[in-house]
Amino acid sequence: MSIASDCPSGTASDVREKLLLIGGQRVAAVAGRVFKTLNPATGEVIAMVAEGDAVDVDRAVAAARRAFEGPWRTMRAAERGQILNRLVALMKQHADEIAALESLDAGKPISAVLRQDIPAALDTLAYYAGWADKIHGDVVPVRDDALTYTVREPVGVVAAIVPWNFPLMIGMWKLAPALACGCTVVMKPAELTSLSALRLGDLALEAGLPPGVFNIVTGPGSVVGDALVKHPDVDKVTFTGSPGVGRGILRGAAGNLKRVSLELGGKSANVIFDDADLDAATKAAAAGIFFNAGQVCSAGSRVLAQDKVYDEVVERLTARARSLRMGDPADRATALGPVISEKQMNTILNYVDVGRKEGAQLVTGGERVGDRGYFLSPAVFAGVKHEMRISQEEIFGPVVSVIRFKDEADALRIANGTAYSLAAGVWSRDIGRVQRFARRVKAGTVWINTYGYTDVRLPWGGAGDSGFGREHGTEALANFTEPKAVWMNLNV
Ligand code: NAD
Repeated sequence: MSIASDCPSGTASDVREKLLLIGGQRVAAVAGRVFKTLNPATGEVIAMVAEGDAVDVDRAVAAARRAFEGPWRTMRAAERGQILNRLVALMKQHADEIAALESLDAGKPISAVLRQDIPAALDTLAYYAGWADKIHGDVVPVRDDALTYTVREPVGVVAAIVPWNFPLMIGMWKLAPALACGCTVVMKPAELTSLSALRLGDLALEAGLPPGVFNIVTGPGSVVGDALVKHPDVDKVTFTGSPGVGRGILRGAAGNLKRVSLELGGKSANVIFDDADLDAATKAAAAGIFFNAGQVCSAGSRVLAQDKVYDEVVERLTARARSLRMGDPADRATALGPVISEKQMNTILNYVDVGRKEGAQLVTGGERVGDRGYFLSPAVFAGVKHEMRISQEEIFGPVVSVIRFKDEADALRIANGTAYSLAAGVWSRDIGRVQRFARRVKAGTVWINTYGYTDVRLPWGGAGDSGFGREHGTEALANFTEPKAVWMNLNV
């Protein structure tokens, strides 16, 4: 349980929570290995985390199976909901501490964590706690001599594989509906950001979650994630991450034909027509790409601007990019923190080079700031052509490509012209035009005269390289339950 000796002082106090959570116990990895987790704002070690492997996964899956067959699925549904509500209360009580931990571990500005990550995680948990005793089937009258009805049963043991950009919030998108449905969970946080999940594990035990209902195995995706995906006793994988890993997960899950849902990347278009409220549109477009340093699956990384307003859109976006306050994520005035890692920083800087070489014009940003931590100045590329790599590939950083279009058909062709289809935005005062666009654009979510809102009550997900299946709302209840038809002969 030792903290790395170079742990910076004044950081969140709970970085000691670094062991795995299996069967209600904090345990070291069987092989005894640990790995470092760094503060992206400084590059310093903030904790050592247990590095699980396939043996730990086996133990966690066995614990989850026991808890599933034992207390969790047989518990009164209302009681399950009450336990989840107790966890909501505990999380609220510890909200500031969890927020500080998330900000420290993921480099997210604390103001954004308090405004978005924590409230969204709480809302998600409270929403599904409310569902726990309302998940039921139907009586379906088929013929007079039979009673025919359906019930919805939990699918079983769920592997939840989580990315690093919204560790707590996206983890909760998976955990809350799975538990509400009566499933048990083995969570694998992203190796770069394990700490908030581990803290959540403590609170879940304190809330009265029976041992084994929620297990956490930290470690590399290629080891822990892979073992979970291929495990014969896991019934369902819910994954958020990159398309490449998503494809591997589909293949890995084929062994026992697990159910799989995949929330993958995006290259979302935010389309500004010349009759739009330019002030609102460019303000939202800047937030749409620079929020969380662009590390958002639904980031509006392509801003499409109509001929007449193109130059003004570039100018306003540039001004906004330059005005963002970058700095220490722990400072409440900070709007832009570092990117997650040195590797991610180099990937983004490489894309900036690619953009330049492709002939796009870098109007502002795109450089490393300082030599401590992984800070990048927000970048605006003008003169971007639809075919360029910076317009087609997900950069996952604070880099926006501004693309010119002529008319509605042109805008749609460009918006729909990538492998992704997660989200899109459209800005215009013409109600017919925005509705035609919303109807034809390939996206799981469309924002009209706004950008970036999500809510647990609305389905979330995409198609193509953005994956398949939906999280949130009643869609998530379907992900974690299996319908059963019952036919009872009344003539006996
Ligand atoms: P990633 O695919 O590298 O990792 C995601 C998770 O998968 C991590 O926990 C990782 O350890 C694990 N993993 C890695 N290799 C694995 C393997 N072989 N088997 C099983 N698990 C494995 O993605 P990331 O870099 O953490 O996140 C960024 C990506 O996630 C981006 O593409 C982004 O668009 C996407 N994302 C999508 C959404 C959405 O809702 N659609 C939300 C957030 C992020």
